[in-house]
Amino acid sequence: MSYETVIGLEIHAELNTKTKMFCGSLNDPNETHPNINICPVCMGHPGTLPTINGEAVKKVIAVGLALDAEIPLFSQFDRKNYFYPDLPKGYQISQYQYPLVVGGSLELPDGRAIRITRVHLEEDTGRLIHDRDSGYTLVDFNRAGVPLMELVTEPDFRTGEEVRWFGEELQRILRYVGASDADMEKGQMRVEVNISLRSLGVEELGTKVEVKNINSFKFAADAVQYEIKRQTALLERGEKVVQETRGWNERVQETFAQRAKESAHDYRYFPEPDLPPLTLSREMVEEIRATVPELPAAKRIRFTKEYGLDGDTSTLLVREKSLADYFEAVVSELGQHEKETLERPRRDLIKTVVSLMMGDFLRLLRETSSSVRDTLITPENFAELALYFAEDTISNLTAKQILEEMFRTGEDPSDLIEKRGLWQIVNANDLDDIVRHVLKENEGVALDVRQGKSAALQFLVGRVMKESRGKAHPQMVRDLLKKHFENATSYSL
Ligand code: ADP
Ligand code: MG
Repeated sequence: MSYETVIGLEIHAELNTKTKMFCGSLNDPNETHPNINICPVCMGHPGTLPTINGEAVKKVIAVGLALDAEIPLFSQFDRKNYFYPDLPKGYQISQYQYPLVVGGSLELPDGRAIRITRVHLEEDTGRLIHDRDSGYTLVDFNRAGVPLMELVTEPDFRTGEEVRWFGEELQRILRYVGASDADMEKGQMRVEVNISLRSLGVEELGTKVEVKNINSFKFAADAVQYEIKRQTALLERGEKVVQETRGWNERVQETFAQRAKESAHDYRYFPEPDLPPLTLSREMVEEIRATVPELPAAKRIRFTKEYGLDGDTSTLLVREKSLADYFEAVVSELGQHEKETLERPRRDLIKTVVSLMMGDFLRLLRETSSSVRDTLITPENFAELALYFAEDTISNLTAKQILEEMFRTGEDPSDLIEKRGLWQIVNANDLDDIVRHVLKENEGVALDVRQGKSAALQFLVGRVMKESRGKAHPQMVRDLLKKHFENATSYSL
């Protein structure tokens, strides 16, 4: 029997606002001291009243607009009632019937759209810390009341890879829009994956399992793979899939049962009596729309067209808005130098920039765990270095070496090259002296070349490069050596 996989996602993201959702306590994800950023409101003291954080509302609307969703002008907060020690009020203020964002979609790379059901705004809970040594559970309320958006998709996914792509693209969108830092390791973005199987051709949805506590989208894809296997085996044995919540064990690459879904929870939702309904105006929505930057998908297409990049390179460059912006700043500096110094086609120059950026520059950022935003290399200096390299006034080796030094010191490339005496030897006469010297020192090898051993020629190229301290251009060296041998055979042998 063949089955079709059906997957829907519920994704939470903490918003990076200055203060919490309904009070003035700081929203600081980096605060390590527990129970510092709290106040009577987020601690649920009697007699306190919540107020709506406008910044959080705007951020969720911006996310909705980025997903081509509808922004209803009427929206409302509701109380979701349940008891848990990380929830001081005994209820969570959330949205039920009237979310801030309705509909919308995000396209997969193959062009198929994943439909978004809704995005709503709520507040996060505190954090429980189970201390193994003492056996006590501690509670930190710094996170209690932090603005949290929840996005729900329609069950439109068919594979784990699609889930992974969607999650990572949404993460990029949240960051581009500036709504959330969306760091999964810090719990700022959390995903729940709902998975079911159905016989091919059947319309009705099968019984789903919800997998929680997954902390990367790669793991989400792995969990889907595992569930497909597990559920297929159950169905083939004629058994039923039990509707339940499962966790993901990364170490053994398996999901495990956490709790059976007792008949649907009754949260006794009702409109939050302490808050007025939220009414927006068209103008407000349009103002927010104007703040939404060019999104990763549009940028990818534009980079490919405008700069002649291949798809993979564009994809890598737009992963982080700051890197994409930096790249464009460097390219615009090229434009300013171009006419004065070079007849090279712009596309070749851009290729040089890309190769320096994607190779050594990204490696240096990684090695120093620093961000493009803080780099000491100005776009102008980066462009200048790329120009020297493209003009052959410095060698490949020198370019790498100078880039590293620029990265460390922020110095000007021409100063560094000058100081180190690394301008490439482009004068054939200068190089010829070195070539003659090397031939004299290696007469045996030279004989081998005359007898047709091409490996021997490569050896001589290497010697000349070394003698020139990497400043010679390898192709020029090769040409010069060949010329020597041609001339030599015609008269001296
Ligand atoms: P619940 O009430 O159990 O939370 P919802 O209807 O709210 O279920 O859906 C939650 C998520 O699960 C949504 O992303 C939805 O697309 C997805 N989903 C619902 N039914 C199924 C199913 N049978 N198989 C896979 N995903 C499903
Ligand atoms: Mg649900």
